Amino acid sequence: MSTKKIAVLTSGGDAPGMNAALRAVVRAGISYGMEVYGVRRGYNGLLNGDMFLMNLRSVSDIIHRGGTFLYTARSPEFNTPEGVKKAADKCRAMGIDGVVVIGGDGSFRGARDLTNAGIPCIGVPGTIDNDIACTEYTVGFDTAMNTAMEMIDRLRDTTESHDRCSVVEVMGRRCGDIALQTGIAVGATAILVPEVPYDFERDVIQRMKFTQVTGKKHFIIIVAEGVGGVDELAKNIQAQTGIESRATVLGHVQRGGSPTLRDRVMASRMGDHAVQLLEKGIGNRVVAFRESKVVDFDITEALDMKRVFDKELYDMALRISI
Ligand code: ADP
Repeated sequence: MSTKKIAVLTSGGDAPGMNAALRAVVRAGISYGMEVYGVRRGYNGLLNGDMFLMNLRSVSDIIHRGGTFLYTARSPEFNTPEGVKKAADKCRAMGIDGVVVIGGDGSFRGARDLTNAGIPCIGVPGTIDNDIACTEYTVGFDTAMNTAMEMIDRLRDTTESHDRCSVVEVMGRRCGDIALQTGIAVGATAILVPEVPYDFERDVIQRMKFTQVTGKKHFIIIVAEGVGGVDELAKNIQAQTGIESRATVLGHVQRGGSPTLRDRVMASRMGDHAVQLLEKGIGNRVVAFRESKVVDFDITEALDMKRVFDKELYDMALRISI
């Protein structure tokens, strides 16, 4: 039996490209003859029945916008067995027979629970951190990296003018991918990520001193949010090297802004794939990008997968940032 009435929501942390994914879900759904409902504020909207029927024009002029026009939320109420049951009952009452959930790992756990409660769900990875194990790419990652790179390029101008050291925190609580990629792109002297334990003397001070001997006078140190402590690091660097050091936390600017081409295209492909699954009556899957192809995995299996940090790329970054 094919799914005829579906809902779509964005949940957890927002990411640029979520709007493009929503647009794809609505347009693909309508192309398949489905009714597509937009749910406001993540799982809260399911619990409160805060949803509305969308048409082709409901998602006009959003492909280039950051954020999510359906808003997003964290829903403690949904994260209980009673909450999941209430949301499933609400879906049944509304005649919703499939839900596309655009969000991160947490949101996918919710999607798994809702599927188990009888409403087939499909997860679409939307998070700037690129921290979902089953997929090589998450919607929002490219925009966030490019925003971070642009901000650090600006910092670099002033760091260079003053012969300083900039210690920059970029986003990524459990995952150092933004730090690694931007670190390579801005030529950082050191990149500190949660996946690789670091020794301050060896991995920061010695690296700075080595490049100093060959004439380097200004430095950028990239620190992932999950490592943190940039104020302390800047103080210690200044104390040990005598180089004036400043800490900068880029923060949520990395979450906003117009999505890059890559994010718009990936969001469109993944949103369309999610609807194709529901159209075939398939639920409990996470859409993923592997080896240049859009694929899908069982949600529980996807959540059990372990992320593999690209240590080879990390080592390459260290090799050439000298
Ligand atoms: P993200 O999707 O960005 O990882 P969160 O971890 O905050 O964000 O999760 C978003 C929402 O998903 C939560 O507010 C909650 O409603 C739901 N959720 C998170 N974890 C679970 C879980 N283990 N079981 C059921 N629902 C969950």
